[in-house]
Amino acid sequence: MRADRAAQVRFQQHVSYLASDSLEGRRTGTRGEWLARNYIAEQFRQAGLLPKGLEGYIQPFEVNEGKKPQTGSYLLVLGDTLKADKDYFFFPWSAKAEIKDKSLPGVREVNTLWIIDLHEGITDNAGNPHFDLGSYIYEQTKKAASSGATALLLYNTHPSGDKLSFQPKDRTETLAVPAAYLRNEAAIRAIQVSKGPIYVEARVSFEENIRRGYNVIGYLDNRAEKTVVLGAHYDHLGYGEDNNSRHTGTPDIHNGADDNASGTSMLFELARLLKGKSAQKNNYLFIAFSGEELGLYGSKYFTEKPTVDLKSINYMINMDMVGRLPDSSQTITLGGYGTSPAWSKVIDPKKNDLLGIRIDSSGTGPSDHSSFYRKDIPVLFYFTGLHTDYHKPSDDADRINYSGMVRILRHIERTIGGLNEEPKLAFLKTREAQTTTTARFSVTMGIMPDYTYSGKGVRADGVGEGKPAQKAGLKAGDIVLQIGEYNISSMESYMQTLGKFKKGQTVKVVYQRGDKTEEVSVTF
Ligand SMILES: [Zn+2]
Repeated sequence: MRADRAAQVRFQQHVSYLASDSLEGRRTGTRGEWLARNYIAEQFRQAGLLPKGLEGYIQPFEVNEGKKPQTGSYLLVLGDTLKADKDYFFFPWSAKAEIKDKSLPGVREVNTLWIIDLHEGITDNAGNPHFDLGSYIYEQTKKAASSGATALLLYNTHPSGDKLSFQPKDRTETLAVPAAYLRNEAAIRAIQVSKGPIYVEARVSFEENIRRGYNVIGYLDNRAEKTVVLGAHYDHLGYGEDNNSRHTGTPDIHNGADDNASGTSMLFELARLLKGKSAQKNNYLFIAFSGEELGLYGSKYFTEKPTVDLKSINYMINMDMVGRLPDSSQTITLGGYGTSPAWSKVIDPKKNDLLGIRIDSSGTGPSDHSSFYRKDIPVLFYFTGLHTDYHKPSDDADRINYSGMVRILRHIERTIGGLNEEPKLAFLKTREAQTTTTARFSVTMGIMPDYTYSGKGVRADGVGEGKPAQKAGLKAGDIVLQIGEYNISSMESYMQTLGKFKKGQTVKVVYQRGDKTEEVSVTF
């Protein structure tokens, strides 16, 4: 078909541009993201879509990545200025302070700086299965503060080492003294061999680390009562700065052709197809999301601050990684199939003229449709599968199956057409998809953590059917503050804490619901 051939050529053009080196991997909040969103807005305009963002086609949102040391923070030990992160870090609950002081290592006296080796504390606790170095340090700092220490400089010479690092989302209460962790080996050696007092100079304060992301939203207004959302994220990993890359070695541009220049390009073609066509019993809202790779920030923001009435949304189709249709099987994975009985009316997975279809009934998963599912909106998720270039710089435009993209486009077009005369789709709850956080441990609470939440504790986005948290009465929106004797200050401490329990164990869980703090017993 000539139309198919033309669509294939345009797919190639769109993907080649969005996944070109000049966009530097379209990382949220960067110039590459800015170039990409300008391109997307222009494509929406050319397709005749109306702007439906806050500023034209654009809907800005914030990505709060927790705390970071304020510019001008520094640490100097024995006259050497040290590199933040690499050589040292201040604990996120450290007091704001300026220090110019000297002291002998190991001395614990009133009105002095304490320079402490963690070696002894770790040795003392060698047989304690509940020992957690992070909580230990926090408690020690509290004690130091009440004993009159002016500041705390910690280091660790224990041969077992530690995995301490700065935790930006740790919201533990700020203590009365500043505390730093030193890991520069030369400085530690200098402290150990010094015969006199150690001179320490420091300035510490924190600020919120806030990035901006931008959704791009275009609207096809058919004056219908219902609106269909067609979504695809356009952000990607940049050079891998956000620790979500699978690439090792020298930083390189992650072009993200399949993930997700492919789905983004699908939006443009769908806009062309739906403009002025017969399927006019719905309006169509096209959203290119940003912040997806950081934890679905853009789609979550849209569902909190929608630019159309959320109640009018009929269903949502998400396209994330639709560029690698396997030539051999021609099979895609279709997620969200269980979120409405209507899907099986229009899609028969066994009828195989355009595509082979593997069904995944769950409405959740690691992409933007989850945000809509959480609002009780039926979702459908098109996905051509994982591959060895996933989240690597080699996810390039020349590896995309463009004719395969046309097949998928036709399938989506047919699905939308088939639902045109249908009343608003009924919504069904499904099982929760396994998340990577629960899979890593022997026990699970069965809550789906909200990765965009930046307050203290871990907020549940959802609670898995029949899972320990649900059996104990926890609900979506609850914030877990304590498990057993461990305070949960952040996602990191939540994951570390889960690693400490065994199946069958019953523990006390303290959580916040609304403005009340409550307690339940959870059996893993
Ligand atoms: Zn993706």
